Amino acid sequence: MTTIYDIEALEEIRSRNAVQPHRMKLFRNALFKSSNDWKDALAVLPEEVRADFDEHITFQCLEMAERHDSEIDQASKLIFKTHDGHLIESVVLRPKSGRISICISSQVGCACYCSFCATGKMGFTRNLTVAEILDQITQANRMLKPEGRSIRNVVFMGMGEPLLNTDFVFQSLEMMMDPKLYDLAASRITVSTVGIPNAMEEFTSTYPDVHLALSLHSAVQEVRQRMMPQARVYPLEQIRETLVAASRHGKVMIEYLMLAGVNDRPEDLQALEEYLQGIPVHINIIPFNEYPGSNLRGTPEAERTQFADHLKASGFNVTLRYSLGSDIAAACGQLVQHKQKESRT
Ligand code: SAH
Repeated sequence: MTTIYDIEALEEIRSRNAVQPHRMKLFRNALFKSSNDWKDALAVLPEEVRADFDEHITFQCLEMAERHDSEIDQASKLIFKTHDGHLIESVVLRPKSGRISICISSQVGCACYCSFCATGKMGFTRNLTVAEILDQITQANRMLKPEGRSIRNVVFMGMGEPLLNTDFVFQSLEMMMDPKLYDLAASRITVSTVGIPNAMEEFTSTYPDVHLALSLHSAVQEVRQRMMPQARVYPLEQIRETLVAASRHGKVMIEYLMLAGVNDRPEDLQALEEYLQGIPVHINIIPFNEYPGSNLRGTPEAERTQFADHLKASGFNVTLRYSLGSDIAAACGQLVQHKQKESRT
């Protein structure tokens, strides 16, 4: 399947039809910058070449299967179906600041099996291709067009572990930042990882301006292992060295999901402070999004605030994240899981 994301194939068709480069630029802008429909984008090309493009290029590689708009905040959850019938999800967030963000998936399912994550319960199916990663953004932009908005920030915090799909994730980063395509600034993109040291190093040296987020969730090795099996392979000590190196390029975001009685005790706070001492980080305290089938409970808000206050008092940069789109099951993998259950019954 040749998609609009296959720039070499597009160039080949351009050249065999002798389309002027400036026309091609207008065509690319229509697709990637103005988020036009296929017909409108084709209309930019000379009439006699449209059929060739139409016949050989697939405009859309994901099918938008469902759209859920949150009633309590401005989030939209999108469920996409891949050509081989798998479901993946993206969440569009419309914060009051006006900077529209999209949380995208990088894999179908996930091989990391974090105890608290709905995607982990599905197991791993396959990596998403470059086209499937980018199509989430293009289709979200098309959805936002009537609102006069477009995606300004991209975070790899949907389904999957982006640093276990580095080939396609890195290629998609290149295309997101390409001035001829999406033209997104590196500083508007965040890649979130469970902590795969060699891939983190490659990522930060290749893309020093793209933000890195580490899902730390605990600075106690034994607790982290229980929450994230991947922690057995890459112990906290090794990840710390990588963090120190990564932070030379800028602040790293540390994600800390708070689970009652698991990682919210005084000793957890102390371990976290010691672990991050001296590294320029921004800590994001995340509430647990509960979902059916999980018996874990989130730390209540008052205690999360207290935990954050202690960190602030020790000089750390801290943000308390509130749950976005909780009425539409916006946390990683939840909606797809829900839908898979529905289709089984
Ligand atoms: N694999 C990557 C990116 C996907 S998960 C990573 O782990 O960072 C994105 C973030 O959502 C991670 O910080 C993850 O720990 C968090 N998350 C997963 N399930 C959650 C849940 N039920 N409630 C709140 N956050 C969750």
